[in-house]
Amino acid sequence: MTRRWMYVVFIPIIVGSVAFLGYSSFMTTFNFDIWGLRSIVDSTYLVAREKAKRIEQKIIDSDNAILNLVDMENLEDLRERWAALSGVSHAVDSVFIIDENGSVIFSVSDYTDGDFERLSSMFQDVVVPQLELKNGRTQTLRHYHFKYEGKYYLISYKSRKYEEEWYTVCLNYNLDLIVSDFLPELFSDLGPDKICNMVDTEGNLIYGSRIKEAGEFIVGWKIPSTLYEWRIQIAPTKASFFEATSRKKHLYDSITVLIAFGVLFLAIGMIIYMAEQERRLAVLKEEFITNVSHELRTPLGIIQLYNEMLALGKVKEPEKEKKYIQIIAREGERLGALLDTILDFARSEKGKMSYDHIVGDVTPSVIEAIENSRTKFEQENIQIEVKVGEGIPPVKHDPHAITLMVMNLLDNAIKYAEGTDKVVVEIGKMDDMVAISVIDWGPGIPKSEQKHIFERFYRGKDARKKHRRGTGIGLSLVKSIVESHGGIIKLISPIDDSGRGTRFTIMLKACLTSS
Ligand code: ADP
Repeated sequence: MTRRWMYVVFIPIIVGSVAFLGYSSFMTTFNFDIWGLRSIVDSTYLVAREKAKRIEQKIIDSDNAILNLVDMENLEDLRERWAALSGVSHAVDSVFIIDENGSVIFSVSDYTDGDFERLSSMFQDVVVPQLELKNGRTQTLRHYHFKYEGKYYLISYKSRKYEEEWYTVCLNYNLDLIVSDFLPELFSDLGPDKICNMVDTEGNLIYGSRIKEAGEFIVGWKIPSTLYEWRIQIAPTKASFFEATSRKKHLYDSITVLIAFGVLFLAIGMIIYMAEQERRLAVLKEEFITNVSHELRTPLGIIQLYNEMLALGKVKEPEKEKKYIQIIAREGERLGALLDTILDFARSEKGKMSYDHIVGDVTPSVIEAIENSRTKFEQENIQIEVKVGEGIPPVKHDPHAITLMVMNLLDNAIKYAEGTDKVVVEIGKMDDMVAISVIDWGPGIPKSEQKHIFERFYRGKDARKKHRRGTGIGLSLVKSIVESHGGIIKLISPIDDSGRGTRFTIMLKACLTSS
Protein backbone atom coordinates (compact mmCIF):
# COMPACT_ATOMS: atom_id res chain seq x y z
CA MET A 1 0.00 0.00 0.00
CA THR A 2 2.76 2.45 1.00
CA ARG A 3 4.69 1.58 -2.16
CA ARG A 4 1.61 2.16 -4.28
CA TRP A 5 1.15 5.57 -2.63
CA MET A 6 4.74 6.38 -3.50
CA TYR A 7 4.04 5.62 -7.15
CA VAL A 8 0.68 7.35 -7.24
CA VAL A 9 1.63 10.53 -5.36
CA PHE A 10 5.36 11.13 -5.49
CA ILE A 11 6.23 10.13 -9.03
CA PRO A 12 3.59 12.43 -10.61
CA ILE A 13 4.85 15.22 -8.28
CA ILE A 14 8.47 14.65 -9.37
CA VAL A 15 7.55 14.41 -13.06
CA GLY A 16 5.29 17.48 -12.78
CA SER A 17 7.95 19.58 -11.03
CA VAL A 18 10.64 18.61 -13.51
CA ALA A 19 8.26 19.28 -16.39
CA PHE A 20 7.47 22.71 -14.94
CA LEU A 21 11.16 23.52 -14.40
CA GLY A 22 12.03 22.32 -17.90
CA TYR A 23 9.21 24.32 -19.44
CA SER A 24 10.01 27.53 -17.56
CA SER A 25 13.76 27.37 -18.30
CA PHE A 26 12.95 26.67 -21.96
CA MET A 27 10.58 29.66 -22.04
CA THR A 28 13.17 31.91 -20.33
CA THR A 29 15.84 31.17 -22.93
CA PHE A 30 13.19 31.44 -25.60
CA ASN A 31 12.16 34.90 -24.29
CA PHE A 32 15.76 36.03 -24.06
CA ASP A 33 16.15 35.10 -27.71
CA ILE A 34 12.98 36.95 -28.60
CA TRP A 35 14.13 40.06 -26.69
CA GLY A 36 17.51 39.95 -28.41
CA LEU A 37 15.93 39.58 -31.82
CA ARG A 38 13.28 42.17 -31.03
CA SER A 39 15.94 44.80 -30.30
CA ILE A 40 17.35 44.17 -33.78
CA VAL A 41 13.87 44.57 -35.26
CA ASP A 42 13.21 47.70 -33.16
CA SER A 43 16.36 49.44 -34.38
CA THR A 44 15.35 48.61 -37.97
CA TYR A 45 11.93 50.14 -37.33
CA LEU A 46 13.52 53.39 -36.20
CA VAL A 47 15.52 53.61 -39.42
CA ALA A 48 12.46 52.86 -41.60
CA ARG A 49 10.41 55.49 -39.79
CA GLU A 50 13.12 58.11 -40.18
CA LYS A 51 13.42 57.41 -43.93
CA ALA A 52 9.66 57.65 -44.44
CA LYS A 53 9.64 60.97 -42.60
CA ARG A 54 12.41 62.33 -44.82
CA ILE A 55 10.56 61.39 -48.03
CA GLU A 56 7.43 63.02 -46.70
CA GLN A 57 9.33 66.17 -45.71
CA LYS A 58 11.08 66.37 -49.06
CA ILE A 59 7.73 66.34 -50.93
CA ILE A 60 6.04 68.80 -48.61
CA ASP A 61 9.03 71.17 -48.91
CA SER A 62 8.81 70.96 -52.71
CA ASP A 63 5.05 71.55 -52.55
CA ASN A 64 5.46 74.67 -50.46
CA ALA A 65 8.32 76.01 -52.61
CA ILE A 66 6.28 75.72 -55.83
CA LEU A 67 3.01 76.84 -54.27
CA ASN A 68 4.76 80.01 -53.07
CA LEU A 69 5.78 80.78 -56.60
CA VAL A 70 2.29 80.57 -57.99
CA ASP A 71 0.95 84.11 -58.21
CA MET A 72 -2.65 84.13 -59.40
CA GLU A 73 -2.25 87.69 -60.62
CA ASN A 74 0.70 86.83 -62.77
CA LEU A 75 0.17 83.33 -64.09
CA GLU A 76 1.70 84.06 -67.47
CA ASP A 77 4.83 85.06 -65.68
CA LEU A 78 4.95 81.54 -64.14
CA ARG A 79 4.72 79.99 -67.59
CA GLU A 80 7.64 82.10 -68.77
CA ARG A 81 9.75 81.31 -65.74
CA TRP A 82 8.82 77.60 -65.64
CA ALA A 83 11.94 76.28 -67.32
CA ALA A 84 14.15 78.20 -64.90
CA LEU A 85 12.10 77.00 -61.92
CA SER A 86 13.12 73.41 -62.31
CA GLY A 87 16.01 74.37 -60.00
CA VAL A 88 13.53 74.87 -57.17
CA SER A 89 12.07 71.40 -57.52
CA HIS A 90 12.63 69.41 -60.64
CA ALA A 91 10.50 66.67 -59.07
CA VAL A 92 7.35 68.66 -59.91
CA ASP A 93 6.92 68.46 -63.67
CA SER A 94 3.50 70.06 -64.18
CA VAL A 95 1.16 72.57 -62.54
CA PHE A 96 -2.60 72.66 -63.12
CA ILE A 97 -4.91 75.28 -61.68
CA ILE A 98 -8.60 74.50 -61.54
CA ASP A 99 -11.53 76.64 -60.57
CA GLU A 100 -14.30 75.71 -58.14
CA ASN A 101 -16.03 73.76 -60.91
CA GLY A 102 -12.99 71.62 -61.56
CA SER A 103 -12.13 73.17 -64.94
CA VAL A 104 -8.48 73.69 -65.72
CA ILE A 105 -7.90 77.42 -66.08
CA PHE A 106 -4.15 77.27 -66.30
CA SER A 107 -1.44 74.66 -66.83
CA VAL A 108 2.28 74.58 -67.32
CA SER A 109 4.46 71.49 -67.79
CA ASP A 110 7.84 70.01 -68.65
CA TYR A 111 5.99 67.76 -71.08
CA THR A 112 5.50 68.76 -74.65
CA ASP A 113 2.73 68.27 -77.17
CA GLY A 114 1.38 64.71 -77.23
CA ASP A 115 2.67 63.77 -73.77
CA PHE A 116 1.23 66.89 -72.24
CA GLU A 117 -2.11 66.34 -73.91
CA ARG A 118 -2.27 62.81 -72.50
CA LEU A 119 -1.37 64.09 -69.04
CA SER A 120 -3.92 66.91 -69.26
CA SER A 121 -6.79 64.66 -70.24
CA MET A 122 -5.87 62.13 -67.54
CA PHE A 123 -5.76 65.00 -65.06
CA GLN A 124 -9.14 66.27 -66.09
CA ASP A 125 -10.88 62.88 -66.35
CA VAL A 126 -9.18 60.84 -63.62
CA VAL A 127 -7.62 63.19 -61.11
CA VAL A 128 -10.07 66.05 -60.72
CA PRO A 129 -13.06 63.83 -59.76
CA GLN A 130 -10.92 62.18 -57.06
CA LEU A 131 -9.62 65.31 -55.37
CA GLU A 132 -10.95 65.83 -51.87
CA LEU A 133 -12.54 69.23 -52.35
CA LYS A 134 -15.34 70.64 -50.27
CA ASN A 135 -17.32 73.18 -52.26
CA GLY A 136 -14.59 72.95 -54.84
CA ARG A 137 -11.79 73.85 -52.44
CA THR A 138 -9.36 72.68 -49.71
CA GLN A 139 -7.51 74.97 -47.39
CA THR A 140 -4.99 72.36 -46.32
CA LEU A 141 -2.30 70.77 -48.44
CA ARG A 142 -3.52 67.39 -49.70
CA HIS A 143 -2.05 64.59 -51.74
CA TYR A 144 -3.48 62.09 -54.16
CA HIS A 145 -1.26 59.07 -54.83
CA PHE A 146 -2.61 56.59 -57.37
CA LYS A 147 -1.87 54.10 -60.09
CA TYR A 148 -3.13 54.68 -63.60
CA GLU A 149 -2.43 52.42 -66.55
CA GLY A 150 0.40 50.72 -64.67
CA LYS A 151 2.11 53.95 -63.65
CA TYR A 152 2.08 55.70 -60.28
CA TYR A 153 1.24 59.43 -59.98
CA LEU A 154 1.38 61.88 -57.10
CA ILE A 155 -0.67 65.06 -57.10
CA SER A 156 -0.25 67.71 -54.37
CA TYR A 157 -3.00 70.28 -54.17
CA LYS A 158 -4.13 73.28 -52.15
CA SER A 159 -6.75 75.97 -52.80
CA ARG A 160 -6.39 79.73 -52.55
CA LYS A 161 -8.73 82.67 -52.95
CA TYR A 162 -8.28 85.20 -55.71
CA GLU A 163 -10.74 88.00 -56.39
CA GLU A 164 -13.49 86.29 -54.35
CA GLU A 165 -13.09 83.08 -56.32
CA TRP A 166 -11.45 79.81 -55.13
CA TYR A 167 -8.78 78.12 -57.22
CA THR A 168 -6.91 74.94 -56.52
CA VAL A 169 -3.26 74.63 -57.49
CA CYS A 170 -2.34 71.02 -58.36
CA LEU A 171 1.27 69.88 -58.70
CA ASN A 172 2.12 66.71 -60.60
CA TYR A 173 5.23 64.92 -59.42
CA ASN A 174 7.70 63.13 -61.63
CA LEU A 175 7.85 59.89 -59.58
CA ASP A 176 10.39 58.29 -61.95
CA LEU A 177 12.79 61.02 -60.94
CA ILE A 178 12.04 60.54 -57.24
CA VAL A 179 12.72 56.83 -57.53
CA SER A 180 15.85 57.19 -59.65
CA ASP A 181 17.44 60.20 -57.92
CA PHE A 182 16.00 60.87 -54.52
CA LEU A 183 15.59 57.34 -53.12
CA PRO A 184 19.21 56.25 -53.80
CA GLU A 185 20.36 59.43 -52.06
CA LEU A 186 17.96 58.83 -49.18
CA PHE A 187 19.16 55.29 -48.57
CA SER A 188 22.84 56.00 -49.21
CA ASP A 189 23.60 56.32 -45.48
CA LEU A 190 21.98 53.00 -44.58
CA GLY A 191 25.25 51.22 -43.92
CA PRO A 192 26.28 47.67 -44.83
CA ASP A 193 24.28 46.00 -42.05
CA LYS A 194 20.87 46.83 -43.58
CA ILE A 195 19.18 46.35 -46.92
CA CYS A 196 16.11 48.18 -48.14
CA ASN A 197 13.55 48.50 -50.90
CA MET A 198 10.26 50.22 -51.68
CA VAL A 199 7.13 48.25 -52.57
CA ASP A 200 3.52 49.14 -53.28
CA THR A 201 0.50 47.79 -51.39
CA GLU A 202 0.39 44.74 -53.67
CA GLY A 203 4.03 43.99 -52.92
CA ASN A 204 5.27 45.08 -56.37
CA LEU A 205 8.82 46.32 -56.29
CA ILE A 206 9.15 50.09 -56.80
CA TYR A 207 12.76 50.56 -55.81
CA GLY A 208 15.69 48.30 -54.88
CA SER A 209 15.70 44.53 -55.02
CA ARG A 210 13.74 41.81 -53.29
CA ILE A 211 14.65 40.97 -49.70
CA LYS A 212 14.84 37.22 -49.52
CA GLU A 213 14.41 34.87 -46.55
CA ALA A 214 14.42 37.58 -43.92
CA GLY A 215 11.04 36.42 -42.59
CA GLU A 216 9.97 38.23 -39.44
CA PHE A 217 13.01 40.51 -39.62
CA ILE A 218 11.63 42.56 -42.53
CA VAL A 219 10.34 45.87 -41.23
CA GLY A 220 7.81 47.79 -43.33
CA TRP A 221 6.83 51.45 -42.89
CA LYS A 222 4.17 53.29 -44.86
CA ILE A 223 4.77 56.83 -46.06
CA PRO A 224 1.89 58.44 -44.19
CA SER A 225 0.26 61.14 -46.31
CA THR A 226 2.16 61.72 -49.55
CA LEU A 227 3.29 58.51 -51.27
CA TYR A 228 0.82 56.54 -49.18
CA GLU A 229 0.48 53.69 -51.69
CA TRP A 230 4.12 52.83 -51.10
CA ARG A 231 5.98 51.25 -48.23
CA ILE A 232 9.61 51.28 -47.23
CA GLN A 233 11.00 47.87 -46.32
CA ILE A 234 14.23 47.44 -44.39
CA ALA A 235 15.85 44.29 -43.06
CA PRO A 236 19.15 43.55 -41.33
CA THR A 237 21.62 42.19 -43.89
CA LYS A 238 22.07 39.12 -41.72
CA ALA A 239 18.34 38.59 -41.36
CA SER A 240 18.39 35.26 -43.13
CA PHE A 241 21.22 34.22 -40.84
CA PHE A 242 19.29 35.35 -37.72
CA GLU A 243 16.20 33.64 -39.03
CA ALA A 244 18.03 30.37 -39.66
CA THR A 245 19.92 30.60 -36.34
CA SER A 246 16.80 31.27 -34.33
CA ARG A 247 14.96 28.43 -36.09
CA LYS A 248 17.91 26.12 -35.43
CA LYS A 249 18.09 27.22 -31.81
CA HIS A 250 14.41 26.58 -31.22
CA LEU A 251 14.79 23.14 -32.72
CA TYR A 252 17.89 22.47 -30.63
CA ASP A 253 16.17 23.69 -27.43
CA SER A 254 13.11 21.53 -28.10
CA ILE A 255 15.28 18.47 -28.75
CA THR A 256 17.27 19.13 -25.56
CA VAL A 257 14.07 19.37 -23.52
CA LEU A 258 12.74 16.18 -25.11
CA ILE A 259 16.00 14.32 -24.41
CA ALA A 260 15.97 15.59 -20.81
CA PHE A 261 12.45 14.21 -20.41
CA GLY A 262 13.45 10.94 -22.03
CA VAL A 263 16.36 10.58 -19.58
CA LEU A 264 14.08 11.51 -16.69
CA PHE A 265 11.50 8.89 -17.58
CA LEU A 266 14.23 6.33 -18.13
CA ALA A 267 15.69 7.12 -14.70
CA ILE A 268 12.27 6.88 -13.07
CA GLY A 269 11.66 3.60 -14.89
CA MET A 270 15.01 2.28 -13.65
CA ILE A 271 14.32 3.39 -10.08
CA ILE A 272 10.93 1.67 -10.13
CA TYR A 273 12.46 -1.44 -11.67
CA MET A 274 15.30 -1.55 -9.13
CA ALA A 275 12.93 -0.91 -6.23
CA GLU A 276 10.75 -3.74 -7.50
CA GLN A 277 13.77 -6.05 -7.75
CA GLU A 278 14.83 -5.09 -4.21
CA ARG A 279 11.34 -5.77 -2.94
CA ARG A 280 11.25 -9.17 -4.62
CA LEU A 281 14.66 -10.08 -3.20
CA ALA A 282 13.60 -8.99 0.29
CA VAL A 283 10.51 -11.22 0.07
CA LEU A 284 12.62 -14.11 -1.23
CA LYS A 285 15.19 -13.64 1.56
CA GLU A 286 12.44 -13.73 4.16
CA GLU A 287 11.10 -16.94 2.65
CA PHE A 288 14.64 -18.32 2.57
CA ILE A 289 15.12 -17.77 6.30
CA THR A 290 11.80 -19.48 7.06
CA ASN A 291 12.73 -22.37 4.75
CA VAL A 292 16.20 -22.80 6.24
CA SER A 293 14.81 -22.82 9.78
CA HIS A 294 12.27 -25.39 8.74
CA GLU A 295 14.88 -27.46 6.89
CA LEU A 296 17.10 -27.47 10.00
CA ARG A 297 14.34 -28.08 12.47
CA THR A 298 12.83 -31.13 10.75
CA PRO A 299 15.90 -33.42 10.74
CA LEU A 300 16.92 -32.14 14.17
CA GLY A 301 13.49 -33.04 15.53
CA ILE A 302 13.69 -36.52 14.03
CA ILE A 303 17.21 -37.05 15.41
CA GLN A 304 16.13 -35.89 18.88
CA LEU A 305 13.06 -38.11 18.87
CA TYR A 306 14.83 -41.36 17.86
CA ASN A 307 17.81 -40.58 20.03
CA GLU A 308 15.56 -40.18 23.05
CA MET A 309 13.82 -43.47 22.34
CA LEU A 310 17.15 -45.26 22.06
CA ALA A 311 18.64 -43.53 25.10
CA LEU A 312 15.66 -44.40 27.29
CA GLY A 313 15.91 -48.04 26.15
CA LYS A 314 12.36 -47.99 24.79
CA VAL A 315 13.31 -49.92 21.66
CA LYS A 316 13.51 -53.62 22.43
CA GLU A 317 13.81 -55.28 19.05
CA PRO A 318 17.29 -55.17 17.52
CA GLU A 319 15.73 -54.76 14.04
CA LYS A 320 13.99 -51.53 15.04
CA GLU A 321 17.03 -50.33 16.89
CA LYS A 322 19.09 -50.75 13.72
CA LYS A 323 16.46 -48.94 11.67
CA TYR A 324 16.31 -45.99 14.10
CA ILE A 325 20.07 -45.67 14.09
CA GLN A 326 19.97 -45.60 10.27
CA ILE A 327 17.31 -42.86 10.37
CA ILE A 328 19.44 -40.82 12.78
CA ALA A 329 22.45 -41.25 10.48
CA ARG A 330 20.41 -40.30 7.36
CA GLU A 331 18.93 -37.20 8.95
CA GLY A 332 22.40 -36.25 10.23
CA GLU A 333 23.71 -36.58 6.70
CA ARG A 334 20.82 -34.43 5.42
CA LEU A 335 21.61 -31.80 8.01
CA GLY A 336 25.27 -31.87 7.08
CA ALA A 337 24.45 -31.66 3.35
CA LEU A 338 22.13 -28.71 3.97
CA LEU A 339 24.73 -26.87 6.02
CA ASP A 340 27.35 -27.62 3.33
CA THR A 341 25.05 -26.19 0.66
CA ILE A 342 24.37 -23.05 2.72
CA LEU A 343 28.06 -22.54 3.44
CA ASP A 344 28.98 -23.13 -0.22
CA PHE A 345 26.28 -20.70 -1.27
CA ALA A 346 27.55 -18.07 1.19
CA ARG A 347 31.08 -18.56 -0.15
CA SER A 348 29.96 -18.31 -3.79
CA GLU A 349 27.97 -15.14 -2.96
CA LYS A 350 31.14 -13.57 -1.54
CA GLY A 351 33.14 -14.87 -4.50
CA LYS A 352 35.25 -16.84 -2.04
CA MET A 353 34.53 -20.31 -3.35
CA SER A 354 37.88 -22.05 -3.76
CA TYR A 355 38.45 -24.85 -6.26
CA ASP A 356 41.13 -27.50 -6.58
CA HIS A 357 41.22 -27.96 -10.31
CA ILE A 358 42.48 -31.06 -12.03
CA VAL A 359 42.41 -31.94 -15.72
CA GLY A 360 40.72 -35.27 -16.20
CA ASP A 361 37.56 -37.28 -16.71
CA VAL A 362 34.47 -35.97 -14.89
CA THR A 363 32.81 -39.41 -14.84
CA PRO A 364 34.15 -40.51 -11.39
CA SER A 365 32.85 -37.29 -9.78
CA VAL A 366 29.42 -37.82 -11.38
CA ILE A 367 29.37 -41.47 -10.25
CA GLU A 368 30.28 -40.37 -6.72
CA ALA A 369 27.29 -38.00 -6.70
CA ILE A 370 25.03 -40.87 -7.79
CA GLU A 371 26.43 -43.14 -5.12
CA ASN A 372 25.95 -40.46 -2.44
CA SER A 373 22.32 -40.11 -3.50
CA ARG A 374 21.62 -43.82 -4.01
CA THR A 375 19.96 -44.34 -0.60
CA LYS A 376 17.50 -41.50 -1.34
CA PHE A 377 16.65 -43.05 -4.70
CA GLU A 378 16.05 -46.41 -3.04
CA GLN A 379 13.82 -44.83 -0.42
CA GLU A 380 11.70 -43.20 -3.11
CA ASN A 381 11.76 -46.33 -5.30
CA ILE A 382 13.32 -44.47 -8.19
CA GLN A 383 15.68 -46.21 -10.59
CA ILE A 384 18.83 -44.33 -11.45
CA GLU A 385 20.39 -45.04 -14.80
CA VAL A 386 23.80 -43.84 -15.97
CA LYS A 387 24.79 -43.53 -19.63
CA VAL A 388 28.39 -42.70 -20.30
CA GLY A 389 29.29 -41.94 -23.90
CA GLU A 390 32.39 -43.03 -25.77
CA GLY A 391 35.65 -41.09 -25.58
CA ILE A 392 34.76 -38.43 -23.04
CA PRO A 393 37.54 -35.86 -23.29
CA PRO A 394 39.23 -34.53 -20.16
CA VAL A 395 37.92 -31.36 -18.50
CA LYS A 396 39.59 -28.87 -16.19
CA HIS A 397 37.42 -29.21 -13.07
CA ASP A 398 37.18 -29.46 -9.31
CA PRO A 399 35.90 -33.04 -8.67
CA HIS A 400 34.24 -32.06 -5.39
CA ALA A 401 32.38 -29.19 -7.11
CA ILE A 402 31.16 -31.52 -9.90
CA THR A 403 29.85 -34.00 -7.31
CA LEU A 404 28.12 -31.17 -5.44
CA MET A 405 26.40 -29.88 -8.60
CA VAL A 406 25.20 -33.30 -9.74
CA MET A 407 23.95 -34.12 -6.22
CA ASN A 408 21.90 -30.91 -6.24
CA LEU A 409 20.34 -31.79 -9.58
CA LEU A 410 19.64 -35.38 -8.45
CA ASP A 411 18.15 -34.09 -5.21
CA ASN A 412 15.78 -31.87 -7.20
CA ALA A 413 14.86 -34.76 -9.52
CA ILE A 414 13.90 -36.84 -6.48
CA LYS A 415 12.02 -33.95 -4.84
CA TYR A 416 10.06 -32.68 -7.80
CA ALA A 417 9.75 -35.65 -10.16
CA GLU A 418 6.96 -37.28 -8.23
CA GLY A 419 5.08 -40.10 -9.89
CA THR A 420 8.06 -41.29 -11.92
CA ASP A 421 10.30 -44.23 -11.33
CA LYS A 422 13.36 -43.31 -13.34
CA VAL A 423 16.08 -40.67 -13.44
CA VAL A 424 18.80 -40.79 -16.08
CA VAL A 425 22.28 -39.30 -15.85
CA GLU A 426 24.11 -38.90 -19.17
CA ILE A 427 27.72 -38.00 -19.75
CA GLY A 428 28.61 -37.28 -23.33
CA LYS A 429 30.66 -35.22 -25.74
CA MET A 430 29.10 -32.33 -27.63
CA ASP A 431 31.45 -30.61 -30.10
CA ASP A 432 34.25 -29.31 -27.87
CA MET A 433 32.20 -29.60 -24.67
CA VAL A 434 31.49 -32.32 -22.16
CA ALA A 435 27.80 -32.46 -21.23
CA ILE A 436 26.49 -33.87 -17.96
CA SER A 437 22.70 -34.19 -18.03
CA VAL A 438 20.24 -35.12 -15.31
CA ILE A 439 16.88 -36.11 -16.79
CA ASP A 440 13.62 -36.82 -15.04
CA TRP A 441 10.09 -37.51 -16.24
CA GLY A 442 8.34 -35.44 -13.60
CA PRO A 443 5.80 -32.64 -14.18
CA GLY A 444 8.46 -30.32 -15.60
CA ILE A 445 9.00 -26.61 -14.98
CA PRO A 446 6.40 -24.06 -16.23
CA LYS A 447 7.78 -21.73 -18.95
CA SER A 448 6.97 -18.66 -16.81
CA GLU A 449 9.24 -19.98 -14.02
CA GLN A 450 12.12 -21.10 -16.20
CA LYS A 451 13.77 -17.67 -16.36
CA HIS A 452 13.68 -17.39 -12.54
CA ILE A 453 14.74 -20.77 -11.25
CA PHE A 454 18.47 -19.95 -11.31
CA GLU A 455 17.87 -16.80 -9.23
CA ARG A 456 18.88 -16.78 -5.59
CA PHE A 457 16.14 -17.89 -3.14
CA TYR A 458 13.63 -18.47 -5.93
CA ARG A 459 11.26 -21.41 -5.43
CA GLY A 460 8.66 -22.61 -7.90
CA LYS A 461 4.98 -22.11 -7.20
CA ASP A 462 4.37 -25.83 -6.95
CA ALA A 463 7.32 -26.34 -4.59
CA ARG A 464 5.91 -23.72 -2.24
CA LYS A 465 2.34 -24.91 -2.51
CA LYS A 466 3.15 -28.54 -1.83
CA HIS A 467 5.61 -27.63 0.94
CA ARG A 468 8.49 -29.44 -0.71
CA ARG A 469 11.59 -29.14 1.42
CA GLY A 470 14.09 -26.69 -0.03
CA THR A 471 15.66 -23.25 0.33
CA GLY A 472 15.81 -21.95 -3.24
CA ILE A 473 19.58 -21.74 -3.41
CA GLY A 474 20.45 -25.09 -5.03
CA LEU A 475 20.22 -24.10 -8.70
CA SER A 476 21.74 -20.66 -8.15
CA LEU A 477 24.71 -22.40 -6.50
CA VAL A 478 24.97 -24.88 -9.41
CA LYS A 479 24.89 -22.02 -11.93
CA SER A 480 27.54 -20.08 -10.06
CA ILE A 481 29.84 -23.16 -9.89
CA VAL A 482 29.33 -23.97 -13.60
CA GLU A 483 30.17 -20.40 -14.54
CA SER A 484 33.31 -20.45 -12.38
CA HIS A 485 34.33 -23.47 -14.45
CA GLY A 486 33.81 -21.43 -17.62
CA GLY A 487 30.77 -23.56 -18.52
CA ILE A 488 27.03 -23.09 -18.93
CA ILE A 489 23.91 -24.75 -17.60
CA LYS A 490 20.96 -25.45 -19.90
CA LEU A 491 17.41 -26.31 -19.08
CA ILE A 492 14.94 -28.13 -21.33
CA SER A 493 11.40 -28.66 -20.07
CA PRO A 494 9.24 -30.41 -21.16
CA ILE A 495 11.58 -32.95 -22.72
CA ASP A 496 9.10 -34.58 -25.11
CA ASP A 497 5.60 -34.38 -26.55
CA SER A 498 4.09 -35.72 -23.34
CA GLY A 499 4.59 -32.20 -21.92
CA ARG A 500 6.48 -33.60 -18.92
CA GLY A 501 10.06 -34.00 -17.81
CA THR A 502 13.09 -31.83 -17.10
CA ARG A 503 16.61 -32.01 -18.47
CA PHE A 504 19.37 -29.99 -16.83
CA THR A 505 22.66 -30.08 -18.76
CA ILE A 506 25.95 -28.83 -17.39
CA MET A 507 28.31 -28.08 -20.25
CA LEU A 508 32.01 -27.77 -19.55
CA LYS A 509 34.77 -26.98 -21.99
CA ALA A 510 36.81 -30.04 -22.92
CA CYS A 511 40.60 -29.93 -22.87
CA LEU A 512 41.26 -31.15 -26.41
CA THR A 513 44.85 -31.92 -27.30
CA SER A 514 45.57 -31.90 -31.02
CA SER A 515 47.13 -35.20 -32.09
P1 ADP B 1 14.81 -25.61 -4.04
O1 ADP B 1 14.84 -26.96 -4.67
O2 ADP B 1 15.45 -25.56 -2.73
O3 ADP B 1 13.47 -24.98 -4.09
P2 ADP B 1 16.44 -24.91 -6.30
O4 ADP B 1 17.24 -23.69 -6.62
O5 ADP B 1 17.17 -26.19 -6.31
O6 ADP B 1 15.69 -24.64 -4.95
O7 ADP B 1 15.29 -25.01 -7.37
C1 ADP B 1 14.52 -23.88 -7.67
C2 ADP B 1 13.14 -24.27 -8.19
O8 ADP B 1 13.26 -24.95 -9.45
C3 ADP B 1 12.43 -25.28 -7.30
O9 ADP B 1 11.76 -24.65 -6.25
C4 ADP B 1 11.48 -25.95 -8.28
O10 ADP B 1 10.32 -25.18 -8.44
C5 ADP B 1 12.23 -25.90 -9.59
N1 ADP B 1 12.90 -27.18 -9.96
C6 ADP B 1 14.20 -27.50 -9.84
N2 ADP B 1 14.45 -28.73 -10.32
C7 ADP B 1 13.26 -29.22 -10.76
C8 ADP B 1 12.85 -30.47 -11.36
N3 ADP B 1 13.72 -31.45 -11.62
N4 ADP B 1 11.54 -30.60 -11.70
C9 ADP B 1 10.64 -29.62 -11.47
N5 ADP B 1 10.98 -28.42 -10.89
C10 ADP B 1 12.26 -28.24 -10.53
